[in-house]
This record gives sequence, structure tokens and C-alpha cells, in this order.
Amino acid sequence: VSFGFRAVPEGERQGLVNGVFASVAERYDLMNDLMSGGLHRLWKRDLITMLNAPRSATPFRLLDVAGGTGDIAIRYATDGGSATTAVICDISPEMLSVGRRRIDAAGLSDRITCVEGNAEALPFESASFDAYTIAFGIRNVTHIDRALTEAYRVLKPGGRFLCLEFSECQVPVLDRLYDFHSFEIIPRLGKLAAGDAESYRYLVESIRRFPNQEAFANLVRNAGFSRVGYRNLTGGIAAIHSGWKL
Ligand code: SAM
Repeated sequence: VSFGFRAVPEGERQGLVNGVFASVAERYDLMNDLMSGGLHRLWKRDLITMLNAPRSATPFRLLDVAGGTGDIAIRYATDGGSATTAVICDISPEMLSVGRRRIDAAGLSDRITCVEGNAEALPFESASFDAYTIAFGIRNVTHIDRALTEAYRVLKPGGRFLCLEFSECQVPVLDRLYDFHSFEIIPRLGKLAAGDAESYRYLVESIRRFPNQEAFANLVRNAGFSRVGYRNLTGGIAAIHSGWKL
């Protein structure tokens, strides 16, 4: 079977994505480290720094969409003050159950809650969060525009949107190395570590089909966000897009 989602009708994409994450959930964190050589940790650290949540007792409520096993929310709550809280919203019960385990182990279950839901139709009231993050998640959503409109809706006026996602590598030579890594190494690692080359081929294809930095910035603007910009990480292999609901 070819997983390339060129061949997959739009209506079946989310089901396919859910199957991928259900099958990798238990190994997801390990695979992330393995495949990115630990780089995802640095990129996530950059996202948390940009978020700049209060370390004081000021209340601050984050929504981390496609939050999976909790990396962003756990880092944020660990760094933030005692009144910083987070809701993780993810469509995959399997990923969330790994997340809940990690949140309990970190002693953060009073400040982080997990909710099953779709980024395209968030189960939250309008204007109810101070910030919205999505890390390596929006690429998996079938209708990116709907997810962005939902992000805008649930943010309070003055709220911030931050999206960490793979992007277009803009450094010569590094781009060739990155191609080799993507098309030769990742599927093999996927097969070795998870017994599943196809899921990881899906991963690589979804990265290549995602809009580049400028194109994605335009989508964020179209959803209503102001002062939209982005920062490249590791030569553009990943990027953090930022916008404000003003
Ligand atoms: N944010 C985490 C991280 O950076 O480690 C997890 C990223 S993981 C690559 C992508 C996540 O997106 C998975 O947990 C998957 O279940 C979730 N996801 C996929 N489609 C979604 C959707 N439509 N709504 C919400 N979450 C979704």
C-alpha cells in the first residue's frame, strides 16, 4: 500500500493520520529523539521561550492543540508560575493516554488537563485562552484554514498564536543532507524502531506537502491574526510562526 496522501481522498485523511498516531503512541517520544537527533527538544524550547508565560502568580491559560504526549504543556507548566495552566487537545486517545501518564509522573495533573478533540472544531468557548500553541500538529489537519479560524476564535483578544512546524530548508547543502535524511534514513529508522516504514513515509510526505514559510504566514493572516511573522530554526527545517489576536 502506498501511504502517500496524494492518493488518499480528503475524507479519509484524518482516519489515516489517526491510525498512524494510534500505532506509534507508545514509541512516539523515543522516535522523536531518534529521528530528529534530539533537535525537536531545542525547537520546543524555543517555542516555550517565545511564549514567555508569566513566572509570577499571574493566571495564564494555554491551549496546546495536537499536544500529543504533552511535551509542550509539560515544559510550559514546569517553567511557568503556579497559576499557569494548560489544556491539551488532541484527536488521538492513544497519544493522550501516554500524555496523561507523563503529566502524572511530572506531578502536573492539577495544572494540565487533556481533552479529546479536533483542531478543526475545538470543544472550547470563544475567547477563553491567553495563548494557543500547536507543535508538529497542523500539518496533520485536513483543513488548515479551519484549524486556524478555530485558533483565532478560542483566543482572548490580545492572545497569542504560536505554531512550530517543519518548513522549507533554505540553506544549500543542508537541504541536500536533509533530503537524504528524510527519504533514506527516516523510513528505515521507522521500520527498525517501530516496524513501520509506511507511517514514517507518510510523515516525510506530509512535511513536503506543507506550505512553506511565506505561504503559511499568509494562511495565518487570512485567519485574522495580526503582526504575523516567523522564525526559522536550523536553516528552515522547522519554523515558528507567530500571530496575535488584536
Ligand atoms: N505536539 C506534540 C509534539 O510536538 O510532540 C505531538 C505532535 S504529533 C507529530 C501530531 C499530533 O497531532 C498527534 O498527537 C495527533 O493525534 C494529533 N492530531 C492529528 N490530527 C489532529 C486533529 N485534527 N486535531 C487535533 N489533533 C490532531
